[in-house]
Amino acid sequence: MDKNTLLQVWPIPAFDDNYIWCLHDGESALVVDPGDSAPVLDHLQQMGLKLTAILITHHHADHTGGILNLLDSLGNIPVYGPVGNNIPGRTDVVMQDDTVDITSPRISFKVFEVPGHTLSHIAYFANMQTNVIEPILFCGDTLFASGCGRLFEGTPTQMTESLAKFAALPKNTLVYCTHEYTLSNIRFALAVEPNNANLLSWSERAQALRAQHVPTLPTTIGQELQVNPFMRCDQVDVMHAAQNVSGQQDLPSPAHVLAAIRAWKDRF
Ligand code: ZN
Ligand code: FE
Repeated sequence: MDKNTLLQVWPIPAFDDNYIWCLHDGESALVVDPGDSAPVLDHLQQMGLKLTAILITHHHADHTGGILNLLDSLGNIPVYGPVGNNIPGRTDVVMQDDTVDITSPRISFKVFEVPGHTLSHIAYFANMQTNVIEPILFCGDTLFASGCGRLFEGTPTQMTESLAKFAALPKNTLVYCTHEYTLSNIRFALAVEPNNANLLSWSERAQALRAQHVPTLPTTIGQELQVNPFMRCDQVDVMHAAQNVSGQQDLPSPAHVLAAIRAWKDRF
């Protein structure tokens, strides 16, 4: 491939419903959360790309399981990831407000700490720059299209604060989630907000995409603010649904609302 002026992001499907995102300039590439190495190696070979860096959002095996094999096959390249000793091969620990500068492909990310799904979960945000015309967010399992990650380690308050960091990003930010959970998330979101017109039309678009096996991702921050119940815990309809399902009339904060609908989703 020839070197591109604009960076491109491609999904590498893995396991049942994971996407390993590959960001490249036509020559060099980085991947995010390589849970498996074989599909990454195949993709690099097919596209004629050289892997120069790995970004990790959290320690779960479906996001980290391919790291060591990639390093064995391709030599030592930097592996960025959060604190904790459960990320094999990580070379660089990154924290809130750290900058990750990659030389090729040429891109600079800011790191957000977004506890909730796991305690040390991080996300990588690239604002507009020479070769990036729309901001890019790699959010791991924190935010999904029309949903959010399960609270395995963190609290509803932490997840609420993490999602608020994303809500403050530019609305045109392209959000690259690591699972294709969109249709089942939409079914739940419609149970929360059956009259949300944006959600109803998104449901039709998403079903059409999946019928053709096309990814529903990336989504955008602007879209999620309109259709994602976990980012709408301050909206009257979502609050009412949370009150009904929890039997609690008093849900004094968005974190209480999120706790109620997250618990509902877990048994939905
Ligand atoms: Zn996970
Ligand atoms: Fe995952």
